Amino acid sequence: MQVDFLIIGQGLAGSLLGWTLLQRGCSVVVVDNSPINASSVAAGIINPISGMRLAKSADVDTLLPAATACYDKLSGFFGESFYVRKSMFRLFQNESERVQALKRQQNPDYDAFLGEFSSANGMLNGFNMSYGYIEQLQCGYLSTALLLSSLKNFFIASNAYCPAFVEYAYLNINSAVKWQAIVAKQVVFCEGYRAIDNPWFNNLPLQPVKGEILTLNHPAPLPDSIINYGNWLLPQEDGNFRIGATFDRYQTDQHITEQGKQRLFNALKTVHPGLAQSSVVKHEVGIRPCTADRHPFIGRHPQHKALAIFNGFGAKGSLQIPWYSERFADYLLHNRPLPFACDIERFQSPSFSR
Ligand SMILES: Cc1cc2nc3c(=O)[nH]c(=O)nc-3n(C[C@H](O)[C@H](O)[C@H](O)COP(=O)(O)OP(=O)(O)OC[C@H]3O[C@@H](n4cnc5c(N)ncnc54)[C@H](O)[C@@H]3O)c2cc1C
Repeated sequence: MQVDFLIIGQGLAGSLLGWTLLQRGCSVVVVDNSPINASSVAAGIINPISGMRLAKSADVDTLLPAATACYDKLSGFFGESFYVRKSMFRLFQNESERVQALKRQQNPDYDAFLGEFSSANGMLNGFNMSYGYIEQLQCGYLSTALLLSSLKNFFIASNAYCPAFVEYAYLNINSAVKWQAIVAKQVVFCEGYRAIDNPWFNNLPLQPVKGEILTLNHPAPLPDSIINYGNWLLPQEDGNFRIGATFDRYQTDQHITEQGKQRLFNALKTVHPGLAQSSVVKHEVGIRPCTADRHPFIGRHPQHKALAIFNGFGAKGSLQIPWYSERFADYLLHNRPLPFACDIERFQSPSFSR
């Protein structure tokens, strides 16, 4: 079987790139053998104003419209709702966070993203309001597990899916790449954190970060909004809610831990003591493919042009992957240059070769 693209990995990166290339008329095979990955575990939250400094995410004015347009188009195609728009309440943990937020609120660049400041409990009954809170606008979450399973079924129906794990030693690389019965003009590695084992790209500074998430049940009703208190609380449609996520740098084991669970419960107890009695419905773990400079890794291998990488979306895959899928397709199909910040050419040196 001859194809234009062999995509290795069906997380959010491989799935959306595969979808984009199929939409552009290319022949594609996506290979994966695991239903569980960072994407399926992730909360999928999109939050344009993040961190303790409440800073606008880089390029959010470009990335956010591309993401929402992509998820809305997929929803139209599959008849499912993948991206849920939800407001977020950011609860301040101390005086300096409150002062910083009020400063941001005066900045016109933040008008579209920051709503009203308040210190009244109102709908956030039971939450610790010592320093007040602000409403963050244009937030939401992607139901990644549902999207990935819809896209997997679509790839299967399009004869574009192969359930397997690719052993690097069995990739036969010439001007095209042969793997099993497939000959591909271009291979794109979308392996998430497992790129650390990729013999052609393991010199890139990937910094895996382990994260644990809890799904909890509590009889008390919660506001229908995301609550951000350093960690986040995300109400689910079934009445349960998720809290997360821990952030353990350089950990690549996929084990849930009692320590992770306690850390999440302790933070929850501080912000809402009543919810600390919640029962645990699910405890999950995943590894984020973070990068040293916080920019994705995209591009062709400097020597083996038939090999390429699309990875490094860190903790912001839902926001970033749709726009970068389009830019990478432009690069692969029409030689349009990639934005320098994401192009792996930024690491080119004699040590980046094999
Ligand atoms: C706890 C947690 C919470 C998160 N919360 C958010 C959030 O709220 N918002 C947000 O935007 N992002 C969040 N993220 C980050 C988000 O998950 C990532 O940015 C994104 O999912 C990365 O997607 P990916 O496709 O690159 O990697 P992955 O989802 O890990 O997919 C990689 C796939 O490649 C496959 N693979 C690897 N090697 C091979 C091989 N040799 N052969 C075949 N298949 C292979 C794997 O099986 C896997 O399915 C979170 C991550 C974690 C862990």
